[in-house]
Amino acid sequence: MVPSRGYAAQSADSALAPFAFERREPGPTDVQIDILYCGVCHSDLHTARSEWGGTRYPCVPGHEIVGRVARVGARVSRFKAGDNVGVGCMVDSCRTCSSCAEGLEQYCENGFTGTYNGPEQGTGGNTYGGYSDRIVVDEKFVLKICHPAEQLAAVAPLLCAGITTWSPLKQWNAGPGRVVGVVGLGGLGHMGVKLARALGARVVLFTTSPGKAADALRLGAHEVVISTDDKAMAAWRNRFDLILNTVAAPHDLDPFLGMLRRDGTLVLVGAPPSPHRSPGVFSLILKRRRLAGSLIGGIAETQEMLDFCAEHGIVSDIETIPIASINEAYERMLRSDVKYRFVIDMASL
Ligand code: NAP
Ligand code: ZN
Ligand code: ZN
Repeated sequence: MVPSRGYAAQSADSALAPFAFERREPGPTDVQIDILYCGVCHSDLHTARSEWGGTRYPCVPGHEIVGRVARVGARVSRFKAGDNVGVGCMVDSCRTCSSCAEGLEQYCENGFTGTYNGPEQGTGGNTYGGYSDRIVVDEKFVLKICHPAEQLAAVAPLLCAGITTWSPLKQWNAGPGRVVGVVGLGGLGHMGVKLARALGARVVLFTTSPGKAADALRLGAHEVVISTDDKAMAAWRNRFDLILNTVAAPHDLDPFLGMLRRDGTLVLVGAPPSPHRSPGVFSLILKRRRLAGSLIGGIAETQEMLDFCAEHGIVSDIETIPIASINEAYERMLRSDVKYRFVIDMASL
């Protein structure tokens, strides 16, 4: 076994604290990774506090992992010691169902294995995430990182916030000539703005925080709308091809549906612990509008996104923190006070 250290929540209402545990000994197709940085996703908070229910404790969150390969199993062909690599939200899937065959492991018909909160394929055991010093992952679920070494911390959030916004932007054809809205300027939202802009779309950012407007423009939005300003909101009716909603709290979806043109789509990626109010049927039927959801992205698609970002010089805007500040970081995240992703420097562990 591989002795490991990290930070874990022991229950839904306890703070994260130091935790010692063991990783599996690397098998023939496994890669053992020394973790350098781990991004802090709002899903980590939802899970650590069991806001979605079903959290298994101890819970070591973290699925925006960047590290360096320490050693590889005998049959590993794509990685060698010293390589810079990433691990995102999944560490395994059944690999045999139709979704896995299509490279859509996140929709595995038999359930993928989350990087944390398991269950591990075969054993059903709990998995422990990236708020830790090392991790052992099958090479199929390890990503290559081509960004320069000095950007590695800022690459970490691409592994969840990046792919979660990239996948729906690609699925619904964000690009030149398309008007794309992004709702919420947090970790996901700021990547949504950067990626939609880089793909060539016209980008409008909706925020409840007027103080973020200047940043939104700097990050790539063409326009910013304060979503609490009804008059400003009304000006955008029937104008969008696609709106990506990243908000982590329940809110009224009707104003956003009303902004879609005919056949436009509102995609929910934000996953609040309690439901949004049901949208009005007329918001949908009068213009054949669609309400959709999207879950992270597949492994091949994640590599495609990482390569696109390396080529276009795209990384996340981050605030690096020592791991001992994780509980305070969660409180700031709840106040929408993140610019725009916390990343744990694992040297602090
Ligand atoms: P985050 O950094 O906390 O950003 C969420 C943003 O939502 C905030 O910055 C804020 O933006 C806005 N917001 C928060 N509370 C709000 C409220 N009451 N009303 C309106 N807007 C509010 O979180 P994140 O890491 O980006 O994650 C966002 C959500 O996506 C979480 O629920 C997370 O679990 C989920 N998620 C889903 C997937 C997936 O695969 N679908 C993957 C990762 C994460 P403004 O200040 O600009 O208003
Ligand atoms: Zn995440
Ligand atoms: Zn599968």
